[in-house]
Amino acid sequence: MKQKLTTINHDRDNVGLKYIYPVISRRAGGLSIGINVNINNACNWRCVYCQVPDLVRGAAPEMDFQLLERELRFFLRQVLEGDFFDKYNVSQSLRVIKDIAISGNGEPTSLKGFDRVIELVGKIALEMGVLPKSHFVLISNGSLINQLDVQASLKKLNNYQGEVWFKLDSATENGRRLINDSKLTTEKMMNNLRVSTRLCATSIQTCMMDYLDEDKAKREREAYIELLKSIKEESIAIKKIMLYTLARPSFQPEAGEIKKLDDKQMEKFANKIKKLDYFDVSVSL
Ligand code: SF4
Repeated sequence: MKQKLTTINHDRDNVGLKYIYPVISRRAGGLSIGINVNINNACNWRCVYCQVPDLVRGAAPEMDFQLLERELRFFLRQVLEGDFFDKYNVSQSLRVIKDIAISGNGEPTSLKGFDRVIELVGKIALEMGVLPKSHFVLISNGSLINQLDVQASLKKLNNYQGEVWFKLDSATENGRRLINDSKLTTEKMMNNLRVSTRLCATSIQTCMMDYLDEDKAKREREAYIELLKSIKEESIAIKKIMLYTLARPSFQPEAGEIKKLDDKQMEKFANKIKKLDYFDVSVSL
């Protein structure tokens, strides 16, 4: 029987490579090639909805760049010329590389020399004809963008017409402490967002869930809208605001306390943002 890579199989080990994990995404309409830099499951945050098993605090370990190059070339050849789609029984309509996404089991920009990853992946993908057709995305919590080497990596990402997906789950320090277990101040978060938008196309990615009590949730939503108003006033160029809710169970102790936000509330909030008449908004239910 053929192995099936399904749209719900997001297992990082699904093709037995160390850094590369393919995901067939129905939402994206094809194959997303994930690059997992944090093979030690280490992140500087601990979001209550995080799906990383055995998540620990910390940074990405040293990268074996030669192995990353070998794996990426090998994998892209399997997809472009080999039998990857047949082997995993991927339906015809999804047999397209939609994006290369640097994300994974922790914050990727915590890797020392992270810009080399962008350079290497960009160079190989361009050489093999994957870029610029497919998207090149860095999924980040944005907390380290104040660092010069991270800024250098965003400049490189921009050279490949890539995009940053900047995590912004809460506009308040209390909210970020509760949701992301992060002490990132609003001032620092906003500075990082400004820098990110100056260096590279940047979208905001916001996870919405049923977690806080009603009063707190209401205050959070109001604060988020106020923050967006200030972003508009400053004319900060945000490509898109992507709202999403829980699709898979969290691996954190709070898993039992958080629930998917219902479709109506998601749409209602998206409409509020649209009324600001500045942002492009998408909702993944
Ligand atoms: S930033 Fe991402 S990897 Fe880190 S804890 Fe949050 S969800 Fe998990």
